[in-house]
Parts: sequence; structure tokens; C-alpha cells
Amino acid sequence: MGVLALQGAFESHIRVLNTLEIESVEVRNSESLDSVDGLIIPGGESTAISMLLESNQLREPLQKRLSNGMPVFGTCAGMIILSEKILDGREDQTPLGAIDIMVRRNAFGRQIDSFESQLEIEGLNSPFPAIFIRAPIVQSAGESVKILATIEDQIVLCCNETTLVASFHPELSDDVRIHEMFVSMAK
Ligand code: GLN
Repeated sequence: MGVLALQGAFESHIRVLNTLEIESVEVRNSESLDSVDGLIIPGGESTAISMLLESNQLREPLQKRLSNGMPVFGTCAGMIILSEKILDGREDQTPLGAIDIMVRRNAFGRQIDSFESQLEIEGLNSPFPAIFIRAPIVQSAGESVKILATIEDQIVLCCNETTLVASFHPELSDDVRIHEMFVSMAK
């Protein structure tokens, strides 16, 4: 499994994959991207990750893999990068459009920057400890999007056939169930 390792919390995802005994590849260039059959895009700073995708000549090959149906999992900044449209982004920040959602950056808790919530998730039989850090809001989602969890009517976990996105950080909890969900999606 590939983990985009340009910026942000990629090491935490690698740690979870290790727990699941899944081999991980740090993706920083198109050669390493070619070698993986699924990719995780971590949280961090979506503007920085977007810029680094350009400067590492990764945007085009990644876009191609995504349109060929490579499974992808984005958390927080990763969700922003995989969305169709970004509100409050940088003007030159173009998302990859892997899932039909419009997101607003840093909008989740304007007053509180980060918080933890016990989240009811479709398909899991007990709540998941979800950690939110300057999280994006999903402002709207298209019909192809399946909603897996919400907080106060806001979508915080959703997917389509090949893309899973979370506005929180499953890689920072000691709970591997959402990664397991992605791994079985990627099979
Ligand atoms: N606010 C960040 C962004 O816009 C995302 C925060 C995160 O990934 N924890 O990219």
C-alpha cells in the first residue's frame, strides 16, 4: 500500500499499516507511485501537499491512476485534495476530483481548533474515537457519494467505489477499523 509522503502525518498511517501487517511504500515520485495498487493521502497542510505534488511531478501521474480506478484514502488534508471543489483554498490549489464533494477548509470548529468525538460509523458495531484537527467541512456531496458518518448533520466520512475520505484523523487513534475498511475496499 502506498502512502503519499510529501508532507504531513504520513508516518502515522505507516504505523497503522504495520499493525495490520501490510507493507507500505512511501510515495514521493512517479516511480514509487507506479509500484503501488492503492494510496493513502495523509492529513497535514493541503496547500503544501498540492504544491509538492506539482514540484515532484506527481500530479499528472496521480490523476491518471485515479481515473483508472486506483483505490485511494484521504484523511483531513487528504480529503481536501481528493475533493471536487475547495472553498477557502488557495487560488492555485486545484483538487484531484476523485470524489464528488465540495469541502470548506478549516471550517469545522471555528471556535475550537481540534476535538475528539465518539463517532457512529456505518458498518462498525461500536463508536470510533475520531480526532478532528482544523478539519474541513463537506459542504455538499453528489449522488455517487455514500455517507458513512456524520456529526450534527455534517458529513465526516464518505466514499464512492474507489475513494474513501475522512475529515478526521483515523491514523491518530489506536483503532485500525477504518484502515481495515479501506484495505478491504482496495482488494
Ligand atoms: N487545515 C488543513 C488544510 O487545510 C488540514 C488540517 C489537517 O490535515 N489536520 O490543509
